[in-house]
Amino acid sequence: MSNVELVAVGTELLLGQLVDTNTAYVAATLAENGIDCYASHAVGDNRERIANLVREILERADGLISTGGLGPTVDDLTKEAVADAFGLELVLDSAALAEIEGFFASIGQTMRENNRKQAFLPQGSLPLVNPHGTAPGFIAFRADGKFAACMPGVPREMKPMLAERLLPWLRSHFAVREGIVTRILHTVNIGESEIDHRIADLFTSSENPKIAVLAHDYRCDVKIMAKAASTESALVSIAPLETELRSRLHGHVFGIDATTLEGAVLAALDERAERLAVAESCTGGRVAAALTAVPGASRRFLGGVVAYDNAVKLAQLGVPEETLARFGAVSEECALAMARGVRDRLGAEIGIATTGIAGPEGGSAEKPVGTLCVAFVGPRGERAWTLQLRGDRAAIQSRATTAALGLLWREVKIS
Ligand code: ATP
Ligand code: MG
Repeated sequence: MSNVELVAVGTELLLGQLVDTNTAYVAATLAENGIDCYASHAVGDNRERIANLVREILERADGLISTGGLGPTVDDLTKEAVADAFGLELVLDSAALAEIEGFFASIGQTMRENNRKQAFLPQGSLPLVNPHGTAPGFIAFRADGKFAACMPGVPREMKPMLAERLLPWLRSHFAVREGIVTRILHTVNIGESEIDHRIADLFTSSENPKIAVLAHDYRCDVKIMAKAASTESALVSIAPLETELRSRLHGHVFGIDATTLEGAVLAALDERAERLAVAESCTGGRVAAALTAVPGASRRFLGGVVAYDNAVKLAQLGVPEETLARFGAVSEECALAMARGVRDRLGAEIGIATTGIAGPEGGSAEKPVGTLCVAFVGPRGERAWTLQLRGDRAAIQSRATTAALGLLWREVKIS
């Protein structure tokens, strides 16, 4: 079975100064396209070490794909190292030179001598055009046909080169007929272990399509991955499994693929033609921020009040003093009063409120750090919930935001 390995070139990567997003991007693209990748590596800007890594990889793999180290500066050594490893000369590639000259002409600058260096490629290489920069990529071939495909490190240059140039070549070189199509069901208000419990038998009974569960802060993705010769046939094999998963996770699947929770909330409000106001204590405006990140939110989202201090809960939301005295600010009673107050004062159909203890201080035996009260007030009634969230302050605030949006979504969409 043919396979490749990945190499990220750059000393910055080894010093922890740069996070290697290229490897994740290339790996995901290869997986979607049915090309097996068995290992990935990072190496510094050192000619000998890069050359040794290239030799080592090609003892196992059919090819390697590298990013980085193709620029015009002295520390850009990928090309030289590949030429060393393959025993090839660097020769001037006239097509690559014309391309670099064209790039400088297009941006109205004169070409420097060190940019000429970029037009030298290992003899017999296939150049990969770079319309977004000066460094051309290339595929260099060893005498036995194994290859090194080298792309620039700048993601903006690498991504189109991969999609437009390298990937078509790889698919025909490996005669790949199958690709992987992934469909993601997004769920909320249900834990990973509960999902696991409900769908465990499907994990074992289904090899293609395959299922995976990925937990995020207070929501989970259920991924269905199908290997097939075309997107259409992959979707046909995904459909019955998706139907089964949706019925087992009924009331929790808020969307598929690119759908966000806040997007799903606004879509549900659209269906009901209802408008929303929010009152936030412990989430500090995060619910409003999430909703307003969605284009067109103004159709359904009126606004909110960050009522952090009790004085604001009293004066701006009309929470009765007696409620605060009797039940405390972190209580379902207070959350309900906040939701009613913001709904009435902003003139919305629906009000939602959050109040809780994000920590690290302020917890008690009765109401520990992570206690969250959420209230919903709408045309079909009122509801309040008390949840116990885990994590540090940032995690609790993020989970509280998701939990509130998830409960809101369920009330508007399902009830
Ligand atoms: P240049 O022509 O800019 O020198 P290059 O191909 O030589 O391009 P590098 O010098 O290795 O690439 O990296 C240039 C920049 O690209 C880095 O500073 C970094 O911002 C980004 N980059 C490089 N490698 C990676 C990587 N593995 N993941 C994410 N970003 C990267
Ligand atoms: Mg560089």
